[in-house]
Amino acid sequence: MYCNNNMVYHCPAPRSCNFRHCMLYSHLTFVLNRRSRSRERRRSRSRERKRSTSRNRGRRSRSNSPSKNLARLNLNVHYYSMWLFDNFDQNKLEEEMRKRKERVEMWREEQRKKAIENIGEIKRELEERKQGKKWSLEDDEGRQTHHEEEEEEEDDVDPLDAYMEGVKEEVKKFNMGGMRGNDKRGMMVTNVTVVKSKKGSLTHKKKGELMINDQDAMEYSSEEEEVDLQTALTGYQTKQRKVLEPVDHQKIQYEPYRKNFYVEVPELARMTPEDVHCYRLELEGITVKGKGCPKPIKTWVQCGTSMKILNALKRHSYEKPTPIQTQAIPAIMSGRDLIGIAKTGSGKTIAFLLPMFRHIMDQRPLEESEGPIALIMTPTRELALQIAKECKKFSKTLNLRVVCVYGGTGISEQIAELKRGAEIIVCTPGRMIDMLGANSGRVTNLRRTTYVVVDEADRMFDMGFEPQVMRIVDNVRPDRQTVMFSATFPRAMEALARRILAKPIEVLVGGRSVVCSDVQQHVLVIEEDKKFLKLLEILGHYQEKGSVIIFVDKQEHADALLKDLMKASYPCMSLHGGIDQYDRDSIINDFKNGACRLMVATSVAARGLDVKQLILVVNYNCPNHYEDYVHRAGRTGRAGNKGYAYTFITDDQARYGGEIVKALELSGSPVPPELEKLWSSFKDQQKAEGKSIKSSSGFSGKGFKFDETEHALANERKKLQKHALGLQDSDDEDGPLDIDEQIESMFNSKKRVKDLSALGPPSAGNIQKLEMAKRLALRINAQKNLGAEAQDVMQQATNAILRGGTIMAPSVSAKTIAEQLAEKINAKLNYTPVEKLEEERQAAEQAETVKRYEEELEINDFPQTARWKVTSKEALQRIGEYSEAAITIRGTYFPPGKEPKEGERKIYLAIESANELAVTKAKAEITRLIKEELIRLQNSYQPTSKGRYKVL
Ligand code: AMP
Repeated sequence: MYCNNNMVYHCPAPRSCNFRHCMLYSHLTFVLNRRSRSRERRRSRSRERKRSTSRNRGRRSRSNSPSKNLARLNLNVHYYSMWLFDNFDQNKLEEEMRKRKERVEMWREEQRKKAIENIGEIKRELEERKQGKKWSLEDDEGRQTHHEEEEEEEDDVDPLDAYMEGVKEEVKKFNMGGMRGNDKRGMMVTNVTVVKSKKGSLTHKKKGELMINDQDAMEYSSEEEEVDLQTALTGYQTKQRKVLEPVDHQKIQYEPYRKNFYVEVPELARMTPEDVHCYRLELEGITVKGKGCPKPIKTWVQCGTSMKILNALKRHSYEKPTPIQTQAIPAIMSGRDLIGIAKTGSGKTIAFLLPMFRHIMDQRPLEESEGPIALIMTPTRELALQIAKECKKFSKTLNLRVVCVYGGTGISEQIAELKRGAEIIVCTPGRMIDMLGANSGRVTNLRRTTYVVVDEADRMFDMGFEPQVMRIVDNVRPDRQTVMFSATFPRAMEALARRILAKPIEVLVGGRSVVCSDVQQHVLVIEEDKKFLKLLEILGHYQEKGSVIIFVDKQEHADALLKDLMKASYPCMSLHGGIDQYDRDSIINDFKNGACRLMVATSVAARGLDVKQLILVVNYNCPNHYEDYVHRAGRTGRAGNKGYAYTFITDDQARYGGEIVKALELSGSPVPPELEKLWSSFKDQQKAEGKSIKSSSGFSGKGFKFDETEHALANERKKLQKHALGLQDSDDEDGPLDIDEQIESMFNSKKRVKDLSALGPPSAGNIQKLEMAKRLALRINAQKNLGAEAQDVMQQATNAILRGGTIMAPSVSAKTIAEQLAEKINAKLNYTPVEKLEEERQAAEQAETVKRYEEELEINDFPQTARWKVTSKEALQRIGEYSEAAITIRGTYFPPGKEPKEGERKIYLAIESANELAVTKAKAEITRLIKEELIRLQNSYQPTSKGRYKVL
């Protein structure tokens, strides 16, 4: 026993413990106690405050708590083990303790500030809502709803106080446990959940049935607790904002509608794929991805819009479509979803407006209380106003109404306008959600919405509007047409795109680079055996002026040319896929700093190489596609310097001529007549043989052509990727891999629907089983049968303390371990905890439903990073918020080759909800996250073997 701070503690260290150990332990418990006392003080202050506000209304029980907004607060109490070493120096220990204490205090202060900020935000929001009442929806029911909300808000117990209450209880229990468990060195795993019962009272429920004693002393994890406070507050805020209920589209009978209006005019129909390719290149190099994209239009009439619109275009001097309009308009007009990557100023607004007008005009007029047919979401009010202005240029002649809905300004006029009806709403997402939730959807709703635009999606994403956008889009019928525009398309946005768009066409404007005008381009049609002499001649002219890079097509050609140049007294280096990483780095370094000024390289090797003094690029072997040519030529003429590019092309490489011609034309360089002749004679020859020319070069392949070694490496990479993805058993080596199917089969999904109405109060049998579970748990504990992960956690904590570091929340919490143990036992007994049943029943009562939908998704066999993607606290919270289902990690991770024993389960995610749709949504989101990670792995995986390298 050790006495400290008027409290008696049992020293939990092993028998070898001495006084110093006890010092450490007592210090930790002292910190813990002090914190509990400060909480007690805060709590009593808040109680005092409440008492004064409720004095006139008589005693109010805590059952009138706010917890409509506070669905659940989880307090996870962690106890970490501490094995202390006998020969630990006391001074060092005390010094470490002091440092740690300082860090904890600093951290706590930061958290406290954040919490205060959050509370301030909540209060501001409540204030805003109360003001919202003044705007009045001029509707009795609306007023009633507001009134009720206000009543409830007044009755609310401060969530922080409620939370602190729970913490206090827990700490008390812990302290008592510590005092009681003299000889058992108790670890008590308790999970306190604050839930709202049907009547709205706050009830503290104890979850988890295990009382496990451990041989090690556990430290109370303040970090975890504080993080939970944050989570709780965020949850509270989200709840406050959540006014837009998810829609179960299956229960709604939507009217059929038309979205494909596009008819290709004969002039466009006559265009060959080659013509289309050339035309797209001329249009600032439009790139199109996705199957079945219509050809780009050339004039306004070709887009199939009405005379009224054509007249309006003329009136506003829009003479011809801009590049994005030429491609996006026919694509959208044909009913396809679209991602347009184009900057503001490119004319993207008209690109989505013209098809939108056609879309709206095809539908029956709006009736009273029907919402918009088209919804345009933007990140800012300025953009919303700009779009609305552009829209009004056309909408008036069509008799369509446009309403702009954005935040930060009076809501009443916007409500009034919406109530009058509008076919088009241009909005910012936050205010739109408020409008949709107002007055039970009578202000506006999305039932008639079939056309959705997300403009400046990248900015929307940056500003953190993604959840709001998702919430709105999810409430629009699934067979809608969705168009998304963005100036950039970062990786993170791909996910959003994949979630809201169906088989989209991607149109990228200005994505294709052209050779910089600072590069003087020369193309020489030359015979193979004259190339080397010509090279020497060129080198003689340029080498003195700066660094030179010579591109060849294969590794062996690089080495052969290197030898020849050395013989010709040109010191040089070669860079290609066969050189190991260390040497490659050193070669690049030497070339960059000018130690060596001549280099022979393959294209892949020189990707991204940035050498300012590089004056000349020689394409000793002609590049086989446009991008490669532009990339190679782009190594010179950098940072405003002048550069030169020479390309050798032989007669038998005539098929690449078209790409070079195009590159010269697009960059405004003259095309040498020999090259033109070579290309046209190749085309004629192809025609005479009845062969089609797939691209301007006649070279059907896209992308870099690997030489054999590189090809082999690429194959190796592919195989290893498959292996990494657990897909290595695929029979069809080169066939398309349906990742969705693979994921689904790996999930080994188990679905259940529980009829909770059939559940009675806990039976005597259940109680007996519970007792048995507890006994078993004790036995397991006695056998020290905690899993490796559990030991890891303890070890982490111990090491962190001994190193004087901050204890980070471990990857596996004590709560998880306890739950896993509980689950093992329950699975053995085929027993469902009474608390769980009761809790489910209450939740079901709350939701006024008697069914509970459950689905289990096994994630054990996915690559580690994919598992992390769906098991991190943030991911679970986000998925939960988005889908409104509860997601829990269960089971244990089993590495490949190890199989679970009886009663054990591989790690899986359990999704539960009273709403089937919520479970489906959560599963879809989990699948999406895993798929995204698998695709990322697939694209990023680099074999460790020689031959690949990174260019700095
Ligand atoms: P946006 O990229 O939509 O912000 O458009 C930029 C500006 O270009 C706006 O002021 C439009 O009025 C104008 N604009 C859009 N399309 C055309 C066109 N085809 N011809 C001339 N101006 C246009």
